[in-house]
Amino acid sequence: MNGYITLDYELGMGQSGTQENCLFEPMRHLTAMLDKYGVKTNLFVDTAYLLQLKKLKDLYPQLQKDYDAVIDHLRQLDSEGHALQLHLHPQWCYSNYDGKKWILDKKHFKLSDMSLEEQKQLIHEGAALLNSIGTRKVNAFRAGGFSVENFPELYDTFLAEGITVDSSVFRGERLKTQYHDYDYRKIPMKSSYQFYKDHKKEDPKGQMREYPLSTLVIDAFSYLWMKKAKHPEYAHLTVSKKKWGDAVGIGYPGGKLNVLKIKLKMLLGTKSICTYIEHDENIEKVYNYSTKKYEGDDFVIIGHPKCLTPYSIEILEIFIKNHPEISFKLF
Ligand SMILES: [Zn+2]
Repeated sequence: MNGYITLDYELGMGQSGTQENCLFEPMRHLTAMLDKYGVKTNLFVDTAYLLQLKKLKDLYPQLQKDYDAVIDHLRQLDSEGHALQLHLHPQWCYSNYDGKKWILDKKHFKLSDMSLEEQKQLIHEGAALLNSIGTRKVNAFRAGGFSVENFPELYDTFLAEGITVDSSVFRGERLKTQYHDYDYRKIPMKSSYQFYKDHKKEDPKGQMREYPLSTLVIDAFSYLWMKKAKHPEYAHLTVSKKKWGDAVGIGYPGGKLNVLKIKLKMLLGTKSICTYIEHDENIEKVYNYSTKKYEGDDFVIIGHPKCLTPYSIEILEIFIKNHPEISFKLF
């Protein structure tokens, strides 16, 4: 079995939080644990953030410091064997700094909120920046908010940048709001597959390969029940469940009524329990389900450093210890 630990290396989308708390500190704890097992991670670095930081750093001494620190951190992770890969949250391209904090844009959350030419340019500039930081060449992509419904229009651009892997598919889920737009309910029943243009359809002749997030797809009632379930198997853990991150998420757009409508709509049909490191005590269940359900030998775990807690890292460690059959890999 091939395991892929993927991390979306990014700040908060509602309020950014700080690099120290959202990225550096949680990564120190996570990599210290992973080092015991020689496990390396696939870091999906929000390169739209890096590009905006680079653009504004000459105007603000704090941003110059932040830029130097984050580039140093990425270089260090690269030198330790972790892979830097492309992740894009376009809102950063439209966000500003007021001298104290980031004023985050909320009108351009998805790639499709930009013109096609701008999307292609962002992919090109992002890949070039990451390639200038790391020693390995970027070869994988994950869309911010999993939203890249126009993948066929971007396929050639990815290939031109040497990107042959995508991991944007959140199998079993759909979400259409001002911030998100994806429908991943009909995905090939394989743990990974080749595709041509459309990342949701298998085509052995294609030059790209999709690695969907490993999920347990269930009906809404079972989903809510599982979310509420207690986990006696982890009751002995005494470490903190408090995250290091100081970011605030973007949530859902609109007022309370709109948010309720979105959540109710999400419950129609299926829901997915994912392998989120930060809150997935169900990782064993997802593993057992997905290895039986899907053809292939790939298991894709996702996490966000800004959401990690000491507790979630211990659960991941228990999982790694329990499954010596999984060989953790880079894309
Ligand atoms: Zn992200």
